[in-house]
Amino acid sequence: MLNIVLFGPPGAGKGTQSERLKEKYGLVHISTGDVFRALDPQSDLAKLAKSYSEKGNLVPDDVTIQILEAEVSKFPDAKGVIYDGFPRTTAQAEALDKFLAAKGTSVSVMLSLVVPEEELKARLVARAEVSGRKDDADPSIIENRINTYKKSTAPVAEFYRSQGKLSEINGVGSIDDISERLYTALDSRKTKI
Ligand code: ADP
Repeated sequence: MLNIVLFGPPGAGKGTQSERLKEKYGLVHISTGDVFRALDPQSDLAKLAKSYSEKGNLVPDDVTIQILEAEVSKFPDAKGVIYDGFPRTTAQAEALDKFLAAKGTSVSVMLSLVVPEEELKARLVARAEVSGRKDDADPSIIENRINTYKKSTAPVAEFYRSQGKLSEINGVGSIDDISERLYTALDSRKTKI
């Protein structure tokens, strides 16, 4: 089973590129951000998630891990999964390792999209125009998301680097060019899986 962690700061293009990888390789795409946004807005879980995400903070690990595992379990026949926006903390990465090990599989590769901070901020502001997401529209919330990324999420790349699974991809350029870079990185890795 191919398990791809697509990694990068907010605005790096994970959602866009996940859709391409999904089509090309016939994978399931799981975005924890999308899963949170798709919850019934009246539910306690949705309200809890929103209370964190609207401020640009991470939803607590226990809740997020439970949601992710439930989502993966919906696709027992998947030949592979793209994890987009998960793991975002080292505790989540450890939980994913355990969860996959119990299924007799493991993370195949982390593809990390590298984008400079100024470019990220510009992209998020532009996305706010079309996404309607409150967390995209407010510069102080964007700042908090980027700082949370640096503090809590960036260490996750080191977790996979130490396992020899990290591939860093230049995330600046046209969407097509970046897709090609991801395909190349993935194809060169797949021979080693
Ligand atoms: P972004 O475009 O910032 O990467 P996402 O759509 O992936 O945003 O996630 C939106 C929000 O959902 C995050 O800011 C966070 O509050 C919450 N969230 C998503 N994934 C996780 C996760 N793995 N752990 C904790 N919180 C998460």
